Amino acid sequence: MADDWTMPEGSLMAGKRGLVMGVANDKSIAWGIAKQLSLQGAKLAFTYQGEALEKRVRPLAESIGVQHMIQADVTDDASMDAAFAALQSAWGTLDFVVHAIAFADKDSLKGSFVGNTTRAGFALAMDISAYSFVDVCRRAAPLMPNGGAIIALTYQGSERVVPNYNMMGVAKAALEASVRYAARDLGPKKIRVNAVSPGPMRTLAMAGISGGRQLMTAARDWSLLKEDTSMEGVAGCALWLLSDLGKSVAGECIHVDAGFHVVGVPEGVEA
Ligand code: NAD
Repeated sequence: MADDWTMPEGSLMAGKRGLVMGVANDKSIAWGIAKQLSLQGAKLAFTYQGEALEKRVRPLAESIGVQHMIQADVTDDASMDAAFAALQSAWGTLDFVVHAIAFADKDSLKGSFVGNTTRAGFALAMDISAYSFVDVCRRAAPLMPNGGAIIALTYQGSERVVPNYNMMGVAKAALEASVRYAARDLGPKKIRVNAVSPGPMRTLAMAGISGGRQLMTAARDWSLLKEDTSMEGVAGCALWLLSDLGKSVAGECIHVDAGFHVVGVPEGVEA
């Protein structure tokens, strides 16, 4: 565990088995969530994007006793088929899924949204960052005969304009709408579908966005709590939604951003 990790152990997830998608390294939001779920007694499986990431992800997975490591690229139906078939034959059923996957090409994450968004760039970002969530819901639901919980990771660039976030903001808006529609479809099956919307955090995905450093500074300085979004806070929210504590919560998007999302005009800006 990281030295600064202060979350307590517990048993909120005892007896639950779930899939965490999107660990790339020890800075990944999916990794923070996985650590927290494991500390609370969950049994975990990881999917990782490809062989290049395996050598980073495997030691992390082993350190928290992850039971299954499965390669899955969300743009490749055959690899998704194989991943969910492997899960079904290993476990039979699932209690929860964490979807922490997003991608847009570099040109789609800088400068003019109108000028830099191509047909191909639009389709790629939507495929990996939004459609993949719908696909995962469709594959996971049959493995949840007794109900379950699914979360997606989003960002408030879906709701308001954020410099350079551009195409990813559009994809996150589609993701959040997909969360609501999936929550309606799967609600009668007692599968709760929700989203967590963290403030900016220093991860690999964040490094792909131009001006990411300035974004983090503004998010901290203008936030209500005057602090960065913490991994503990994000993991704690995920734990709440995925555990039975989150009962009755469906179709929701929870901001974990030190209150940044409610600020209309930052301190120090005079009328
Ligand atoms: P990350 O780079 O650690 O994780 C992104 C993951 O997406 C990686 O594991 C990568 O392998 C995976 N991925 C990309 N394309 C894929 C594909 N084709 N198939 C399978 N996996 C693929 O970065 P992160 O910041 O931890 O991102 C996780 C989620 O959190 C993303 O949805 C991101 O948009 C969201 N988020 C991040 C921030 C932030 O500031 N870092 C804020 C809010 C939301």
